[in-house]
Amino acid sequence: MIKQIDKLRRGFLWKGTDQANGGSYLVQWKKVQRPKKLGGLGVLDLERFSRALRLRWLWFEWKEADWPWVGRALPITEADWQLFRVSMTVTNVQLTTEDDQITWRWTSDGNYTAKSAYVAQFKGSYCSFGPTALWRAHAEGKHKFFTWLLVQEKLLTADKIQARNWQCNPSCALCNAEQETAVHLCLHSPFAMQVCQLVRVWSRGSISVPSQGASVEEWWCDTLAVQPKQERRQAAALLMYTAWNLWKERNQRIFEGKAEEPWFVLQLIKEEMLLRFRACGAPVVP
Ligand SMILES: [Zn+2]
Repeated sequence: MIKQIDKLRRGFLWKGTDQANGGSYLVQWKKVQRPKKLGGLGVLDLERFSRALRLRWLWFEWKEADWPWVGRALPITEADWQLFRVSMTVTNVQLTTEDDQITWRWTSDGNYTAKSAYVAQFKGSYCSFGPTALWRAHAEGKHKFFTWLLVQEKLLTADKIQARNWQCNPSCALCNAEQETAVHLCLHSPFAMQVCQLVRVWSRGSISVPSQGASVEEWWCDTLAVQPKQERRQAAALLMYTAWNLWKERNQRIFEGKAEEPWFVLQLIKEEMLLRFRACGAPVVP
């Protein structure tokens, strides 16, 4: 049942239809389902969520021993039990005849919540690209989703298309000299460097030109690490709008056969940021 629902949800995410097949998935579904703070998209993990709900039975079976269904056979799995055991601590308040008390480990008041039982199941997951800056950036959802793919180097660039045995032109549409990869296209191709340099000057040094050989994740994290905290949403937005418009230029060249100059791409970045500034009051446009 969950497998079938997930198939539909995956199809909707990657293709906007229920027809998607394995090749269209750019990021593993397990990763997509992680909470945003842990690098995922926060799509609800139905298996973990239903486990979190089943733990409610175990919790109330203990806490409210006089409820009518207590004592009946519950559809609890061994994995449910394991999670329940690590989620609570048992205390015998005094050496009296009173029942043992249990407290829930994942909430400050010691009571079970479905949310905490859900989140507890992601303990140990780790994300290296600083997702908070990504989701808090002064940019639109499409820019964030795009950047989420980009920092994981999961854009559907020529190298990825070839790995799926699909037909494509393997070379970078921006320079025609090298194999197209996400990191080359958005960071190291001469065209990308020129656009980056223009954005750097225009933003008075808010972002720097990618250092040679940097991975996308390094470019993203290193740029933001040197920003004061209150500037981070702005700098993250600059990176996003820059990369996004490089990607649009690439698509325009491939699908429409139209090529623009770096200064024109800067113009598009400015216009797009100004549009959001007028609607939302941020990012600040230099
Ligand atoms: Zn190139």
